[in-house]
Amino acid sequence: MRLLIVEDEAGLLSSIKRGLEMDGYLVDAAVNGEQALYLAGAEMYDLVILDLNLPDLFGLDVLKELTAMDENIKVLILTAHSELEMKIRGLDLGASDYMVKPFHFEELEARIRMLLRRSFVVEKPVLSFGPMRFDTVKRSLTINGEPVALTKKETAILEYFLLNQEKLVTAEELMAHAWDSEADEFSNSVRVHLTVLRRKIKAVLGYNPICNKVGEGYYLKENTVEQ
Ligand code: CA
Repeated sequence: MRLLIVEDEAGLLSSIKRGLEMDGYLVDAAVNGEQALYLAGAEMYDLVILDLNLPDLFGLDVLKELTAMDENIKVLILTAHSELEMKIRGLDLGASDYMVKPFHFEELEARIRMLLRRSFVVEKPVLSFGPMRFDTVKRSLTINGEPVALTKKETAILEYFLLNQEKLVTAEELMAHAWDSEADEFSNSVRVHLTVLRRKIKAVLGYNPICNKVGEGYYLKENTVEQ
């Protein structure tokens, strides 16, 4: 899951970013409205965390632009503005949630989990496929109860597959949802990470569940033993 944080207070920005990265999210940061709109136009974010008092644009105007670009975009407003009127304006303009500073990081994490789950209609914090269990809170994979150590990127790829079990996933989608914008596209090519991920899963599961439909994309498939 890939997030964008828009926040001009450097200390707060870096602490939120670090905290969410430790939760396993891929996080991009913007320090003003222009930068936020530029990044949102260039990348695909699963959620934007938006401050309202920004040095160049007012956050609600950034929100208007974001929803004009993508009407389904999820935006969580995180602001010192506690007035009911501001909250109503934000929600009317398409924000998915509104949190007032100061805030508890644990509450921010919980609300983000809720918003991302809501968008993928996942009710449980554990995603499963066959004997694989992925805990979205701990960011850990077990297969038949045995833990499998994955890197951050492998985890992001696997989670995207588990959330999209019913469809073909393209390499472009993986790039958009499981990569942060600072990543070097060459050394971080999708195929390299996929290969390692498949190998690690196969070592425990006994087969590779990530299949490739040449020229179209990837999908999860259980090992069906035919008689
Ligand atoms: Ca601010």
